[in-house]
Amino acid sequence: MLIEESYRKIFEENSKWVKKKKTEDPDFFNHLANGQNPDYLYIGCSDSRVHANEIMGLQPGEVFVHRNIANMVVNSDLNILSVINYAVEYLHVKYIIVCGHYDCGGIKAAMEPKDLGILNPWLRNVRDVYRLHEKELDAIEDTKERYNRLVELNVYEQCLNVIKTAEVQKSFLANGYPRVAGWVYGLNDGILRDLKINFKEELNHIRKIYDLTKGE
Ligand SMILES: [Zn+2]
Repeated sequence: MLIEESYRKIFEENSKWVKKKKTEDPDFFNHLANGQNPDYLYIGCSDSRVHANEIMGLQPGEVFVHRNIANMVVNSDLNILSVINYAVEYLHVKYIIVCGHYDCGGIKAAMEPKDLGILNPWLRNVRDVYRLHEKELDAIEDTKERYNRLVELNVYEQCLNVIKTAEVQKSFLANGYPRVAGWVYGLNDGILRDLKINFKEELNHIRKIYDLTKGE
């Protein structure tokens, strides 16, 4: 299909989708226009093959989504920090999920000995995760397996980065939410794997050094 045709088709598909949704539930759009009340914040990779709502089986309005290359939670990224702030303080989400995926191009690119221009500082954060877990990763001989383990460890470290924020620490201590979870999605089998991060244990550990609960 020509790209012009494919582009036009998007609007045709959109009209069909609107009709279908209205048939299923005449109030569908009225309901959504009244506001959002999602229980989940999903932080995932921009990869076109990993679609938050679809893999979680959730409808519009049920998950607040942020995506970037390699699902990073970077300390100086105003974008992700604003998303977390809004999700915690205004939407009162109950879970913050960091979802990586096996065969992630961002993770692979980070490990290539190559100058990638503007991507260098972004991917540097992935290299930092490698350095933190160097011993474990170096012991894995198979390259693909090593990258996939780095995908899991990167999710784990980004979960810790979420827990390092004042909003998450303060809200959990006051309200008992949000909890933070780490998942990895398999591109080849469609399965979501919960890394079963012990949130309370990690929070206590993080607060030893990164405690931001005092003040205000
Ligand atoms: Zn990816």
